[in-house]
Amino acid sequence: MNALAPYKRLTIKIGSALLVDRSGLRSAWLADLAADIAELQAKGAEIVIVSSGAIALGRGLLGLQAPVLTLEQSQAAASAGQIALSQAWAEALGRHGIVTGQILITPNITEERRYYLNARTTIATLLSLGAVPIINENDSVATAEIRYGDNDRLSARVATMIEAECLVLLSDVDGLYSAPPAKDPGATHLPVVPSITPAIEAMAGGAASHLSRGGMTTKVEAGKIATLAGTAMIIAKGTEPHPLRALAEGGRHTLFQPVQSRAQARKRWIMGTLQVAGTLQVDAGAARALRTGKSLLPIGVIQVFGAFERGDAIAVTGPDGAEIARGLVGLDSDEARLVMGKRSDTVVELLGAGNRAELVHRDNLVLVGAKEEADHELS
Ligand code: GLU
Repeated sequence: MNALAPYKRLTIKIGSALLVDRSGLRSAWLADLAADIAELQAKGAEIVIVSSGAIALGRGLLGLQAPVLTLEQSQAAASAGQIALSQAWAEALGRHGIVTGQILITPNITEERRYYLNARTTIATLLSLGAVPIINENDSVATAEIRYGDNDRLSARVATMIEAECLVLLSDVDGLYSAPPAKDPGATHLPVVPSITPAIEAMAGGAASHLSRGGMTTKVEAGKIATLAGTAMIIAKGTEPHPLRALAEGGRHTLFQPVQSRAQARKRWIMGTLQVAGTLQVDAGAARALRTGKSLLPIGVIQVFGAFERGDAIAVTGPDGAEIARGLVGLDSDEARLVMGKRSDTVVELLGAGNRAELVHRDNLVLVGAKEEADHELS
């Protein structure tokens, strides 16, 4: 069975050990992986890569031999290695005519809505242009307190941020076992995990084991982040050549099934967990357009209440003041006041290039009736 067939948008995380060995970059392996990515893309998939390997590559480039690097050394290694890493990806995918875009992430980018919206838009734009975004943590400046530290969880946040249908973690294990196989030779492989229970966490080696950081524990933590947001996760072995082709041809893996749909997760998030910072009152035409699934354009807005910033949650009310939708707003309140009632093509004139024509994009908008639906579907 083709494990990747159900998914259009995929985030693929590549561990350092796959890309780099003692002698440096494993370029033949990377060339094969790039061919797999090109094959998937040609079939219509949208691929986002989260690639580790900066520190491992930089260590070699800078001649840092110590088995454990100091924080300063690993940050310097990340800085040197990231250039080599991006170059390797650009060359490998470039051979298939695919352009790459580099994005370096710190936790505030995936956790703060304003940055989050920007990063999401950049990645979506790269994908729409047929490019492959290559993402890593911005290790050379991230400090211990504001760092993911492992690309398993980082890739899960990226996957949910861009609403990928599936996150594939390629590493040196072919999935989750009933116990760590190195310790227990009788451990059995789990092909499917319907939900991450305490028993599943225990199989990963227990949440408290510091030895397994970056091992199965962070992978299961990544699974929690992904599956709760409606993104499936696959753990598969990446060490052999053509690991994605192997998955498509039925290769062994563990599938973590999403616990709710992405649409439900997003609706719940917008409707339930955010405080509204303001209100946009719209005319009858805009209210009708919203109900048919359109974005909210400035021309339909008749009043702006409150002080909010781009990315904040706002309520949308009809001409009678009744709430019809909630969403994440694309402009600050001052800008919204400036453009309300104006045609979209004048927005660029008023606010400058780089501003989007929608006040609330339809992907960031939930109709009020849809809240009960989402709750009902889940109950
Ligand atoms: N961001 C780190 C690097 O590029 C890797 C972190 C990880 O392996 O999870 O070297």
